[in-house]
Amino acid sequence: MLDPGHGGPDPGAIGLHGTQEKDVTLDIAREVARLLIDRHRVVTRLTRSDDRFLALDDRVAIARKAEADLFVSIHADSAPNVGARGLSAYTLSTKASDSFASRLAQQENQADRFGGRDSKAGRQIVKDILRDLTARHTRNASLVARQTLVRGAGRDLRLLDNPMRAANFAVLKAPDVPSLLVETGFLSNPQDEEMLRTPDARRRVARVLAREIAAVLSHRQFA
Ligand SMILES: [Zn+2]
Repeated sequence: MLDPGHGGPDPGAIGLHGTQEKDVTLDIAREVARLLIDRHRVVTRLTRSDDRFLALDDRVAIARKAEADLFVSIHADSAPNVGARGLSAYTLSTKASDSFASRLAQQENQADRFGGRDSKAGRQIVKDILRDLTARHTRNASLVARQTLVRGAGRDLRLLDNPMRAANFAVLKAPDVPSLLVETGFLSNPQDEEMLRTPDARRRVARVLAREIAAVLSHRQFA
C-alpha cells in the first residue's frame, strides 16, 4: 500500500519555487505503483489516487483493511536547515531520532486539522497502540524494510545524514502492517526541490523506490 502524503486542502510542504508536497507525493506514488505492478509483479494500491484529503487514521485503516504486506507513506517535507537534503526513512517510535524528527512527526500529525478532526484523540490512540505493540513481527519487519530500502536507495540517490530514522508518526501506527514513511527529499533545499519538481528526476526516484520496495517484499521477514 502506497500512501501519497497530504492532499486536498493540505498541501504539505511548499518549496522555494512553489512546488507543493501533495503533488510531488502523488506523482511519485503513482509512478512507483505503475512500476511495481508492471515491472515487479507486485499487487499495489494507493490510499489516494487524486488530489483529496485523507485523515491519517483513514490511511492506516485502508492499509489494514487491505491486509497490506507493507505500507509506505511517501513525503517530501521541509526542514528549518535549508542545507538538509537527501532521502531518509522513518519507522514508528515514541523516541524520536532527534529534535528535528520529533518536530517533523508533530508537523505531519497536524495534517488532520485540515479535516476538522480532533487530533488529541489521535495522539491518545498512538499512545495506546504503542503500549500494546506486542506485534513484534510488525516492528521487526518495519525495521528490515527501512534498512533494505535506505541501503538500496543509497546506491542511486543522495541520502540525508543518518537516513534511518524514527519518530512518532500517527500514519505509521498500524499494529499489524509493517509501515515506513519515506522522505524523498526536502522541498526547503534548492537542489532537492529542483529534483522533485523535474519530471525525469521524479521518475528516477520512483524507479529506485519501486526496485527497493520489491526488494523489501522478497526479504524473508515478508515471506
Ligand atoms: Zn509530508
